[in-house]
Amino acid sequence: MTKPAGHQVTTACPLDCPDSCSLSVSLSDGRVVALDGGDANPVTGGYICGKVRRFGERMYGPDRLLRPGVRLGPPGSGEFRWVGWDEALARVAAVMREARDRWGAESVLPYCYGGSNGLLTQDTTDARVFRRFGASRLARTLCASTTGAAHQALYGKMPSVTYADYAHAKLIVVWGANPSASGIHLVPYIREAQRAGARLVVVDPRATPLARLADLHLAPRPGTDVAVALALHRHLFESGLADDAFLAARTTGAGRLRERARAWTFERAGTVAGLDPHAIASLAGMYAAASPAVIRCGWGLERNRNGGNAAAAILALPAVGGKFGVRGGGFTLSNSSAWGITKSWIGASEPATRVVNMNHLGRMLTGSADPPVKVLFVYNCNPLATAPNQNLVRKGLERDDLTTIVFDQVLTDTARYADIVLPATTFLEQYDFARAYGPISLQMVRPAVDAVGEARPNVDVFAELEERLGLDQPGEPRDELDMMIRVLDGLPEGVGGAIRADAPAAPPFGTAPVQFVDVFPNTADGLVHLFPEDLDREAPLGLYTFQPDPATQRWPLALISPANEKAISSSLYELVRRTAALTIHPDDAHPRDIADGDTVRVFNDLGAVTCHAAVSPTVRPGTVSLPKGLWCRHTLNGSTANALAPDTLADLGAGACFNDARVQVERVAGAADAAAAAAAAAMPVEGADAERIH
Ligand code: SF4
Repeated sequence: MTKPAGHQVTTACPLDCPDSCSLSVSLSDGRVVALDGGDANPVTGGYICGKVRRFGERMYGPDRLLRPGVRLGPPGSGEFRWVGWDEALARVAAVMREARDRWGAESVLPYCYGGSNGLLTQDTTDARVFRRFGASRLARTLCASTTGAAHQALYGKMPSVTYADYAHAKLIVVWGANPSASGIHLVPYIREAQRAGARLVVVDPRATPLARLADLHLAPRPGTDVAVALALHRHLFESGLADDAFLAARTTGAGRLRERARAWTFERAGTVAGLDPHAIASLAGMYAAASPAVIRCGWGLERNRNGGNAAAAILALPAVGGKFGVRGGGFTLSNSSAWGITKSWIGASEPATRVVNMNHLGRMLTGSADPPVKVLFVYNCNPLATAPNQNLVRKGLERDDLTTIVFDQVLTDTARYADIVLPATTFLEQYDFARAYGPISLQMVRPAVDAVGEARPNVDVFAELEERLGLDQPGEPRDELDMMIRVLDGLPEGVGGAIRADAPAAPPFGTAPVQFVDVFPNTADGLVHLFPEDLDREAPLGLYTFQPDPATQRWPLALISPANEKAISSSLYELVRRTAALTIHPDDAHPRDIADGDTVRVFNDLGAVTCHAAVSPTVRPGTVSLPKGLWCRHTLNGSTANALAPDTLADLGAGACFNDARVQVERVAGAADAAAAAAAAAMPVEGADAERIH
């Protein structure tokens, strides 16, 4: 495929962001020179985020993987002998066969997540080959499994209020989300609602940009959102403000929820969450009184030991408060299930092999797993940067007897440890499908340019690997075009046809459903389950309970690592050439003699991070913040926030507990300071604009 020079291509962004923008890509001499918002998706509104505007720098930058390689230096060196695809895939097939013959097929662990995030780049030929091979299965739990468990149990993942309907709301509660950094196209609708008189409440331990524009900002201590939500329930029930008619007709379990909420007075919730009880009472009063009222439930609140209970309690609020049935009322979580996609195109059934929680990668690589993991195949993912307990992951990747294969677009931190690297195409060099999970849209992704270097699409590479392993079957899709047709055919009635015809695709209920008018719970009985018994059994202390803060005298500060506008998880962070800063409140900085711009050490029993300090009241006292997704190059000692994050699991959905990291911070003084400063000279300090990246 050769593209003519000097023109524009229309495509869509499939990256792991709720918005799925339509894109206009400008080309010159067969290269991408600019990206901007396209017209196809009205939510895009002609603009896109700053990170994807820079996507060309990822494609053509110094970190891009251009050809397959076999590692020369020690693990982590990132030194490779460049080889052809034939040699590389022959080696991959050989090590997989050898591992299977000697240790069993489960000794091969595929490890992938949302790095590319389209419908073609994950769960197509990749799933086919690993299923047929009998590899270990991966529980994809780094993000959204905890909120997803609550959403599934309470509502059967009923579709959410979409962005445009926020303009109709009279009260908007943004809880554990920062749309100014992730899902930016929600912000104009919130601002429009505010101009029309809507009130805005933000619940976040940081003063995010929207928090600064809010009528009320609650900054709870990380891990305590459930206490705040239960206090709101108590108020609704005990003040006679619950919608009894709705509860009787449309829900089950309201009595059990009321029982569990009974103990959560505003005072008790305030003590636990470190909030003024009057502020919680204000939110309760505003929420009870307003209609339409909508809650944007984000993913920040799930990343802790109480995350599932918090999500369940927050998602239950519109049912108890009677907020459904009007445009602009209800909740937003994820619309990824709105299309009813079943991935029937995989074409191989899932084997009953071992399931590995992706949060436990370090344990799996270093512990006494039976069989041991002998081949780790990483794609669409950078676990050294994104998985918890980073030092244990690194120790595992350093194992002599582990073969690590990394199939990626750039030389990530994980790829530096690979025995074999394989270059992948980006979404501007391949076909794919972009499914939004904020708005409801599904768009085709078209290649804008030829593949850079020798990069190849996931579909093609896994199909070839399947063939080399002797696992292919006749008549199956073996390249991205054939697989694209198979996916189009496998989409729900009418959707594939619309996409083929470049017409707007929509599920049967349209792209702006009103909850309890156009869409209803997908539970077995069609009711909201406010007290699902299976969640009550799963949560360590039961549903709607609270597990105390893991802080100790040694480790008093809560470390959070939120998403920011520089990267999508760790993707695109390679373009940031600055040392990161830890945001710390003046009340925590001054007793530690820490001034803005100082070099600091953040540490606990799991590890340490040396970086700069940004002293700022934008984070609540007792909580410090490092950006999510940093690469090792962004700190002065090569460790990131995940070196301090435990690999414990959340109360529901076996999700990650990044925000349960508890740490101490100290200023780095003397010689170490000078050395750190020298190291930092290569990279300007991020502290000056730390506020923007936190
Ligand atoms: S990352 Fe999100 S905001 Fe940025 S271009 Fe992609 S869909 Fe749009």
